[in-house]
Amino acid sequence: MMTERSGRCLCGAVRYTVTTDKTGLCGCSCEQCRRHTGSLLVSLDAPAEAVRFTAGEPAVYTSSSWAERGFCRDCGSTLFYRVTAGKIAGHTALAAGTLDSLEGLHVEEEVFADGAQGAYLLAGDHERLTGEETMAKYSSAGA
Ligand SMILES: [Zn+2]
Ligand SMILES: [Zn+2]
Repeated sequence: MMTERSGRCLCGAVRYTVTTDKTGLCGCSCEQCRRHTGSLLVSLDAPAEAVRFTAGEPAVYTSSSWAERGFCRDCGSTLFYRVTAGKIAGHTALAAGTLDSLEGLHVEEEVFADGAQGAYLLAGDHERLTGEETMAKYSSAGA
């Protein structure tokens, strides 16, 4: 079932909606996600056209030649990771913690699961891929 979910940064300057039937979240502990979020990025992934910014304009940091990271320039909240090149350009991994409600969502997959060297782990019975396994599965993922 397609559901419209809304979200916002901490201060509320940037607001968005995402329309998706997905209920699975992805956790990423690659070094870039680790540093950008301060821990790990747990995201609800959607194609570009499913995401609409309804207030404010996220600031964007180009984190690699194929991706950028969005955040609020006022409060600093991490908002998304977005692919900017290749077959899935526009693909957006919205920071799940910025959603107004997390009802019905659960972690389905963890990538770069060894990125925090075991210091913190996501509980639950989901697929966990190490960095090496992640690279093997998604050749251009990870940054
Ligand atoms: Zn903000
Ligand atoms: Zn990552």
